[in-house]
Amino acid sequence: MNWLRDELKRAIPPLIEKWQPIMGVVVKKFFVQKMKTRWGSCNYTQGNVRFNSELAKKTPQCLEYVVVHELAHLLEPSHNARFHSLMSQFLPNWKLIKAELNRVL
Ligand SMILES: [Zn+2]
Repeated sequence: MNWLRDELKRAIPPLIEKWQPIMGVVVKKFFVQKMKTRWGSCNYTQGNVRFNSELAKKTPQCLEYVVVHELAHLLEPSHNARFHSLMSQFLPNWKLIKAELNRVL
């Protein structure tokens, strides 16, 4: 299963490169690790983002959604109205992708 994790590690940097200038954020470092309850997390103060290695089993669209979600946390740390409007601005169909992502874990 390790090759999946490596694929994921290779798939993430181009997405970060793509979205950083669009969103006006800078990711200092990213990590891929096994997570029990979340698809990703973001350290707002340190500029680090983490991705669940299980994302390797999901579609590229789902991965991109999680990247945009975690990058949006660099702008807004909590899941408030501002966060949701940022998501809608950058990824108008994010709710559909989120539903797809969480359909089967
Ligand atoms: Zn979040």
